[in-house]
Amino acid sequence: MSAPKPNVYDRLKDAVGAKGFSIDASEIAPHLEEWRGKYHGHSPLLLKPATPAEVSAILRICHETGTPIVTQGGNTGLVGGQIPLHGEVLLSTQRLNRLRGLDEGGMTLTAEAGVTLAQVQQVADDKRLLFPLRLASEGSCTIGGNIATNAGGTHVLRYGMTRALVLGLEVVLADGTVLAMLRALHKDNTGYDLKQAFIGSEGTLGVITAATLRLFPKPDVAVTALAAVPSPAAAVKLLGAMQAHTGGMLSAFELMPRIALEFVTRHMDGARDPFASASPWYVLMEATGGSHANLTASFEDGLADAITANLVTDAVVASSAAQAAALWKLRESISESQKREGASIKHDIAVPVAAIPDFLAKAVPAVLAIAPGARPVSFGHLGDGNLHFNFNSSKAGDDPKFLSLWEDMQQAVHDIVKEFGGSISAEHGIGAMKVSQLPRYKSHEELDAMRALKRAFDPKNILNPGKLIPPVLKL
Ligand SMILES: Cc1cc2nc3c(=O)[nH]c(=O)nc-3n(C[C@H](O)[C@H](O)[C@H](O)COP(=O)(O)OP(=O)(O)OC[C@H]3O[C@@H](n4cnc5c(N)ncnc54)[C@H](O)[C@@H]3O)c2cc1C
Repeated sequence: MSAPKPNVYDRLKDAVGAKGFSIDASEIAPHLEEWRGKYHGHSPLLLKPATPAEVSAILRICHETGTPIVTQGGNTGLVGGQIPLHGEVLLSTQRLNRLRGLDEGGMTLTAEAGVTLAQVQQVADDKRLLFPLRLASEGSCTIGGNIATNAGGTHVLRYGMTRALVLGLEVVLADGTVLAMLRALHKDNTGYDLKQAFIGSEGTLGVITAATLRLFPKPDVAVTALAAVPSPAAAVKLLGAMQAHTGGMLSAFELMPRIALEFVTRHMDGARDPFASASPWYVLMEATGGSHANLTASFEDGLADAITANLVTDAVVASSAAQAAALWKLRESISESQKREGASIKHDIAVPVAAIPDFLAKAVPAVLAIAPGARPVSFGHLGDGNLHFNFNSSKAGDDPKFLSLWEDMQQAVHDIVKEFGGSISAEHGIGAMKVSQLPRYKSHEELDAMRALKRAFDPKNILNPGKLIPPVLKL
């Protein structure tokens, strides 16, 4: 009699060895909940491969047996993409955590997928270089996750999305094939730029195991200011004016409403409003450059002109790194303080920059018609036309009745976004949260092309099934 075949979970465990898996419910549990507490998953097996070869062995087995698998990095994703919602096997990149190399002269760094964004930033900084991706989740999110979501953040205005920061990738395909594309090239026109297909693919086309990233010279000078502005229209004009004054040296331009500042000062230790009187809106601006460029003078001239033109009613310019950090803390604490304030419904939208005032003028009343008394908290990356168009319940704390309006509110907002030629997901992705809405906002030709790509790379649909790619509706 032949020995019984090991079942698929045993084969997966064998592929990674004793340190490379867990079936301990208490170890798996934190991987099953996400930051917003909206999605709860379950999984029989957590795999923790330490090398691309182990990832390849895992995927080969999953492909052969048709076993669905979800990849997870730092578990900071905001659309549920990293959560195994249907009992899939979970692949964590936490042990793919080596720095493979740093080329100071060429200004590139090669890191494995599970290295955190903060670690990459620190390694670059130690060499007086800059990795400019900056997110409030940077202590936990991973480079693999950043690439898989094509993360944005606060410095896209100057340096672009993650896509613009990746020179090379190493990816394991669904059938275990390793695509070794870790090239440190700025130019490579040898056919399709395959790495681009995996950037922003949210774990549906392959598992990213390492990346070669682009670094930049670390600016010597950073000028940071918080400006009180009368309206979003004034903020848009201020953006153009400050870009002109600084010769395009703005690295961040973040819009915040008064209520966001109130939430932050109410909920975050040590946070304080730097102004004597209230303003309906604020802009956090940063310009960076070399010490020879007299950036501070041109920035302050620009600000003075903006005050004369009534685009700015008051402003504080940070006079030390500590003051700049305190101003940034106000901006970066908005999500956390919004969470502490209670129930909220969020939208991560983009419209053309100039359309932001008109979008707000139309979308805020549309939401208030659905949820009277809801408190608008629209903030974010105005310089990129990306708003976190969020609403808190009229009262603090839990509010199930308000949260039950999520779908209606989202559809109303996204329909208006479409009218303005915008995007229903500027930087967080589609994941599980928006997959059912995608057909309403993306043409069926585009969706068919996405499905064709998915079939080519993952014909058995084992990678993150049900996320990002909407099923074809049968009529
Ligand atoms: C407080 C806070 C602030 C945030 N601010 C921003 C912001 O300003 N801008 C922004 O863009 N995002 C922001 N995010 C969202 C989040 O941090 C990013 O989406 C981040 O890039 C996710 O990285 P991660 O390692 O946590 O990925 P995870 O959450 O683990 O996974 C996210 C997606 O990527 C896939 N994935 C992860 N690793 C891999 C891999 N190695 N190979 C293939 N697929 C993979 C997963 O399957 C999932 O679909 C914020 C989140 C929080 C909690």
